[in-house]
Amino acid sequence: MAGSGWGLPRLDGFILTERLGSGTYATVYKAYAKKDTREVVAIKCVAKKSLNKASVENLLTEIEILKGIRHPHIVQLKDFQWDNDNIYLIMEFCAGGDLSRFIHTRRILPEKVARVFMQQLASALKFLHERNISHLDLKPQNILLSSLEKPHLKLADFGFAQHMSPWDEKHVLRGSPLYMAPEMVCQRQYDARVDLWSTGVILYEALFGKPPFASRSFSELEEKIRSNRVIELPLRPQLSPDCRDLLQRLLERDPSRRISFQDFFAHPWVDLEHMPSVESLARATALVVEAVKKDQEGDAAAALSLYCKALDFFVPALHYEVDTQRKEAIRAKVAQYVSRAEELKAIVSSSNQALLRRGTSVQGLLREMARDKPRLLAALEVASAAMAKEEEVGKEQDALDLYQHSLGELLLLLAEAPGRRRELLHTEVQNLMARAEYLKEQIKIRESHWEAETLDKEGLSESVRSSCTLQ
Ligand code: ADP
Ligand code: MG
Repeated sequence: MAGSGWGLPRLDGFILTERLGSGTYATVYKAYAKKDTREVVAIKCVAKKSLNKASVENLLTEIEILKGIRHPHIVQLKDFQWDNDNIYLIMEFCAGGDLSRFIHTRRILPEKVARVFMQQLASALKFLHERNISHLDLKPQNILLSSLEKPHLKLADFGFAQHMSPWDEKHVLRGSPLYMAPEMVCQRQYDARVDLWSTGVILYEALFGKPPFASRSFSELEEKIRSNRVIELPLRPQLSPDCRDLLQRLLERDPSRRISFQDFFAHPWVDLEHMPSVESLARATALVVEAVKKDQEGDAAAALSLYCKALDFFVPALHYEVDTQRKEAIRAKVAQYVSRAEELKAIVSSSNQALLRRGTSVQGLLREMARDKPRLLAALEVASAAMAKEEEVGKEQDALDLYQHSLGELLLLLAEAPGRRRELLHTEVQNLMARAEYLKEQIKIRESHWEAETLDKEGLSESVRSSCTLQ
């Protein structure tokens, strides 16, 4: 077997077994501790001669810092040793291989799976960003999976690239230009923001099966990197508008126009706030407490909206929980809150009917005034279509899309409408917004209901796995 026996490095306290892989700077071996625990680890051997001369000492200091870092989505560095030739990093072993292999054995990942992975990567990047640590060599090969049964991402190789310039003394580029931000390749001047570009490339590759600069020859690749064309996203597979928006904003060539770290963490498609985590359950519970209070005070609308916000945290809490009994307990509670929310919905809905009737008379007046305003008429038509859709069972999302479409138009027209028409238009916009908000909550309740009922016992990992094997 390649890599076994001959040529295996020796290291105190460990028995090295097989070669797991090698990258730009190092070779990684699987090993186990000689101690009674026989703990399985991965040992990465970095040749000192591949480092910048001044860097070895800085690197050792930094490794000491990395040793203190604990994050569920960062490969844990357990310890390190060194001798004349090498530095040895003793790391947590990741049995699931790397993200590159994971993507390519499946050709592409469904948006839902890519989103869970992206949330995990973003949470690791946020943690590092808060500590002023950049990665600088983000790519699927440097993102490992804890296991294939419960695939959790683990970011590897970070805090390292700072000590290894992408350009060596002979000005030869090291690493993969497929993932490097254009400013890194072209200007040789860059900062932490290159990590955002690389994140965009990784997401692009996960969704479309190949990185945006994939090329048949080096000159083709160079042309693509140096050009200033906007990165075009393939039309297929179909993706949500939020997902496309994020890709476009990460893959912005000019780092000053690229999405910022803060906006990335808060982007609706990433939505770190609602990522399954230890905190999800506590946040859900706190919101329920508020909802119950409003409910007791008789404020049905406020209670309903708080229940909905709570459900936004209960679903990730369910995903996060691994203990079957505790999961069941959460599920039972969620069912109870969903049914109270349904009751509240009925109460709010009857007062909404009144709103709707008032809305119809305003619509009539507006329509009269808008006879010679084709754009306004068209927008009002869309609003009527939205209301009609709302009456159909299971068409809430379509109705919501129509509401949003007509609201977009009406808001534009509102700015230029004169006097009385403006007043009426204003009332109409408010009515429609209230309808749209109400629909959003209905959709949310239905989805939480569905999630709570169909969520597999194994939770997140299971949902990730099944959607991967489904395609
Ligand atoms: P380099 O700095 O040379 O790029 P990496 O840390 O990226 O080295 O490791 C190279 C490869 O070794 C990875 O792509 C992965 O396949 C494998 N590998 C690295 N670390 C681990 C680990 N902790 N567990 C399992 N495999 C690993
Ligand atoms: Mg690597």
